[in-house]
Amino acid sequence: MPERRVAARWLLPMDGPAIAHGAVLIDAAGRIVAVGQDAAVPRPADARAQEFPDALLLPGLINTHTHLELSGLPELAEPEFASWIRGVRARKAARPAGEYLAAARAGLAACRAAGVTTVADTGDSGAVIEVLAESGGSGVAYHEVFGPHPAQTEESLAGLQRRTAELRRFARGRVRLGVSPHAPYTVSGELYRRTARWAREEGLPMAVHLAESAAESALLASGTGEFAAAWAGRGIPLPEPLGHTPVTWLDRHGMLGPDTLCIHLVRADASDIALLAERGCAVAHCPRSNRAHGHGDAPLAALLTAGLRVGVGTDSVLSVGPLDLLAEARLAAALAGLDAMAALRLCTSAAAHALDLAADVGTLTVGKWGDCVVIRPDGGITAASPADQALRSGPRDVVLTILGGRDVHRAGGSA
Ligand SMILES: [Zn+2]
Repeated sequence: MPERRVAARWLLPMDGPAIAHGAVLIDAAGRIVAVGQDAAVPRPADARAQEFPDALLLPGLINTHTHLELSGLPELAEPEFASWIRGVRARKAARPAGEYLAAARAGLAACRAAGVTTVADTGDSGAVIEVLAESGGSGVAYHEVFGPHPAQTEESLAGLQRRTAELRRFARGRVRLGVSPHAPYTVSGELYRRTARWAREEGLPMAVHLAESAAESALLASGTGEFAAAWAGRGIPLPEPLGHTPVTWLDRHGMLGPDTLCIHLVRADASDIALLAERGCAVAHCPRSNRAHGHGDAPLAALLTAGLRVGVGTDSVLSVGPLDLLAEARLAAALAGLDAMAALRLCTSAAAHALDLAADVGTLTVGKWGDCVVIRPDGGITAASPADQALRSGPRDVVLTILGGRDVHRAGGSA
């Protein structure tokens, strides 16, 4: 692969202010070797050079929460969350195993078409890590484990260990493997404790759906609500101990640490947030999914003020329809009163910190991977700030997505 040079009307490196008439130079290995004002970035004679005088150039976007294996599944009309979750499980069970790879490929292609170069994905088919590996992708694939009955602990953990051993062959280059004990309403305290201990011994990062619904809070506080009723129907004992918030319950089972990505965190009060900050946890904030399910809004401003590492995520197509990370950033900005630059950080530099990938991605900085997105705003470049123009854009405006110096999406044609 030759060196390549990309110039644009505005460059938003996300490690400093926007640069008018900026450019980036990416070496043959896919790393950034120069970035700055166009006139100051070298023009090697044999480099492939592209100029976008009517566009914005940003770091490739980072989606901190996806379920790409669910791509293509038909929508569910269940209004109530516990039965919606059961509906997702039923649709997954009915999907032939061979369809998961195709779904993961389609999901990853849609991400790239929307300017996303790094994903943090949770699933239990193993398809996403395989597709990331085959396509030279970037991201973390958290393999899910379930088991609400304490008697299932050994079997569930052994199954997780077996699958992660099989999937490790795909965790190479820029692809990482992690584990996801799904959520407090599908995993027992014992399974959380055992999984957390084992994952840390293995150096596997963890992700957990946490403090998402009222039903989850009711289950852990008092053993009541929709999930408690469903558990009773299946002969599953109530969680031990009761009287907790989801955050304090999970901490009691040893799950919370700097290697834990907490997904959703809608129902976190001030003492929960202080505890999460003390443990150094990261957060995947999914504002449109939270609203779609009627969970309410996460306390984003408080999470940021507490110094937690926060990125935005879309969640799955079953929750939000077509994945549009900049739409998540816009809603996050509205929720927490953020300016456009701060909102863009939630899907670039801050998201990289949340996933512990900041040394490699998230900003256009010399030494990092040459991951970038070229956005041509609908209606052309205006006098508005470049950050505002980027934040107002969407998948339809993405003209080129580059991952490690390689095209992975071009508008109007596949890469
Ligand atoms: Zn999710």
